[in-house]
Amino acid sequence: MARDTSPQCKQCRREGQKLFLKGERCLTDKCGVERRSYPPGEHGRGRMKQSEYRVQLREKQKARRYYGVLERQFHGYYVKASRQPGITGENLLALLECRLDNVLVRLGFAASRRQARQLIRHGHWTVNGRRVNIPSYQVRPGEVIAIKADTPATQVVRDATELTGQIPAWLQADHESLTAKVLRKPERREVAAPVQEQLIVELYSK
Ligand code: SF4
Repeated sequence: MARDTSPQCKQCRREGQKLFLKGERCLTDKCGVERRSYPPGEHGRGRMKQSEYRVQLREKQKARRYYGVLERQFHGYYVKASRQPGITGENLLALLECRLDNVLVRLGFAASRRQARQLIRHGHWTVNGRRVNIPSYQVRPGEVIAIKADTPATQVVRDATELTGQIPAWLQADHESLTAKVLRKPERREVAAPVQEQLIVELYSK
């Protein structure tokens, strides 16, 4: 399975903002954006030429990096979103938001999407009682997410719950039993991603 192994702090610095890709470290003064708030590379501190295309491209890259999705799969989400009824940009964000790895982060069961992906890949989570080891699995309303019984990852998950902020209203979590339920699909205002989805749609629809 292809995956993005590029340095995560560089990704944030490239996008010029914190994308919270590293869990606890992102909340400390070791954060790469806090230390060096300019893009990486030899010309990082030089003047960047702005163009409409560049703004749209950066927005797409930012969304991709935030959710940890590679280009091909991301474009696949766009195609799927454009075929659904409603606003394409909002459909796109809903598809990304409903990925199981993202849902674990939103529930506070993983400190980062990378950690969530590893926990899923290693078979520590079940959906409706069945083991799911696909990070891109799309959760659906009514589904129950639970940690596998007696898994050695329990402590890691409990540690992650301590970093949790607010859980979005479309999800319900029980941090004692490490179970959760998907109540409904997320609405746009409930998606906390720092992304202007309209720019991504404009880029892809050229
Ligand atoms: Fe981004 Fe986190 Fe690295 Fe800061 S510490 S630059 S938020 S990945």
